[in-house]
Amino acid sequence: MNLFNLFEGKARTDAFLVAATGVIVWIVALQFDVWDRLTEFLEGHEAWQLDELILGVLCVGFCGFAYSVRRLIELRSEVRRRRTAEDNASWIAMHDPLTRLPNRRFMSEFIQQLAPSTAEGKASHTAFAIDLDGFKKANDLLGHHGGDMVLIEVSDRLRRKFPSDVVARIGGDEFTILVDNQSLQSPVATAQELVGIISEPMIIEGRQVEVGASVGVATPEHVVNPEQLPEYADVALYVAKRSGRNSTKMFDPAMLEYVSGRAKMEQALRVAVRNHDIVPYFQPLIDMEDGKLVGFEALARWQRDNGEFTPPDVFIALAEQAGLIIELSESILRQACKAALEWPNHLTLAFNVSPTQLSDRRLGLRIIEILAETGLSPQRLEIEITESALVRDTEMGMAIVSDLHNAGVRIALDDFGTGFSSLSQLGKLSFDKIKIDRSFVTDCEHDPKRQKIVNAILNLGRGLGIETTAEGIETPAQYALMKQMGCDTGQGYLFSAARAVDDIPELIASFERSQIRAWGRSHSSRMRAAPFPLNPLKAT
Ligand code: C2E
Ligand code: CA
Ligand code: CA
Repeated sequence: MNLFNLFEGKARTDAFLVAATGVIVWIVALQFDVWDRLTEFLEGHEAWQLDELILGVLCVGFCGFAYSVRRLIELRSEVRRRRTAEDNASWIAMHDPLTRLPNRRFMSEFIQQLAPSTAEGKASHTAFAIDLDGFKKANDLLGHHGGDMVLIEVSDRLRRKFPSDVVARIGGDEFTILVDNQSLQSPVATAQELVGIISEPMIIEGRQVEVGASVGVATPEHVVNPEQLPEYADVALYVAKRSGRNSTKMFDPAMLEYVSGRAKMEQALRVAVRNHDIVPYFQPLIDMEDGKLVGFEALARWQRDNGEFTPPDVFIALAEQAGLIIELSESILRQACKAALEWPNHLTLAFNVSPTQLSDRRLGLRIIEILAETGLSPQRLEIEITESALVRDTEMGMAIVSDLHNAGVRIALDDFGTGFSSLSQLGKLSFDKIKIDRSFVTDCEHDPKRQKIVNAILNLGRGLGIETTAEGIETPAQYALMKQMGCDTGQGYLFSAARAVDDIPELIASFERSQIRAWGRSHSSRMRAAPFPLNPLKAT
């Protein structure tokens, strides 16, 4: 080891001072012949034994020197260890250990460094905020380790695409890339390219996996200072996420208002779900043959503080995006089951599950648990699953349908005719009912084409031995036509809109008074035929 390397910083200065002092003392000693004088003195005073003493002092000095060198070597390796530990700690603070990409902190510090170097605060970079689509599903499918591998593969792909730019992992499956504008041609094209790169199938633990990506982009024109870049790219990403899988969006100032409006509504929804303010209303299902009431479909209703109702399609979609759908759905099902216990035993309860719930393998189990808890017989429950949800994930759908069937719950295929399911998919899944979508029933009396479609669906149902329900029957003519074509059950404003739980006993009584016979006869106004005024969202 080079002795000089032992000395660093203050140690080096000290060593230099000591050496310089030594040289000065040595020169002075030479000048004054100190050695000759000393030996003369020692020879003159042999009896004092001073030579032994001086030899002893020299030996101690030599040992002290050796000791200091050894301590210095030790100190140096200690300093090195400490430095490595410090480097590691600051690396960990600035990076994601899984993907080894920079993290959010690294990115903010990088942006802060950018800020002063840009002219008049104009950013020199473009930000791309990325969120993976379908990552949760891949994680469920592959397990935690497989999910990690997906993230590492996506990170590698992004790093390969932008080797000299900042590619940061911001959270679970979120990434932000800051690209220097000098190397960027078109932000829009780059965003689409990113979607393409991420969507390429990957092989993880021997299985082929595909994830998608939504991308939000903020360019220097959008921001006053560079620190807004990732924030605005995030806002654009938020909007992209809500436009469906693999969407890309450029930031637009109008998005800020949209996002804050959504955030407010999401907050209100969170409170409403927690307080069970979202309640089921019930719409009757009628036996087409004899006009008798056979059951009710539970339809969720959310009345806001201003008295207005927010449509269920809006708040159900929001609940899905905000991760509230399981809690909301369980709350509505619990309330609906309790209500159904008050009705005559032969009346069924139909309940909708949303498409995202169908990617939850525990869905069947959760429903069965609520039945056990409330005491409603599984034979009285019918779960409505939309056709489009099943097309999205037939395998998971099959598993959930089989859990529910085994427990005795019936399954209806909702909105049939709109979800592009293939006959082979239908063959794989076993259903108890097909609900013909409202769009085929509306105006069917004047439209031979719609009648032919309805007829084909009814034939399919008969062939498979499955019950059929026509949705959205609004006029006696539609009722008569559906009945004549052989549809088993019907639902629609002609019979009644969905009603609040307190109205149901009276509604059941009015059906029992066989008011229903009027459905077929009355060709006058649907308002007169219905036992209650018709407004799908408002109570009277
Ligand atoms: P859906 O399952 O197809 O429900 C039937 C919709 O048609 C209901 O709308 C109902 O009010 C409406 N409707 C019934 N009869 C007629 C009619 O004669 N004419 C017309 N024009 N419409 C009729 P609503 O209550 O607004 O619900 C819309 C959708 O929201 C539902 O469609 C369902 O997909 C979803 N939804 C409602 N409640 C829930 C729920 O508790 N959970 C889930 N996951 N989705 C729900
Ligand atoms: Ca339904
Ligand atoms: Ca429907």
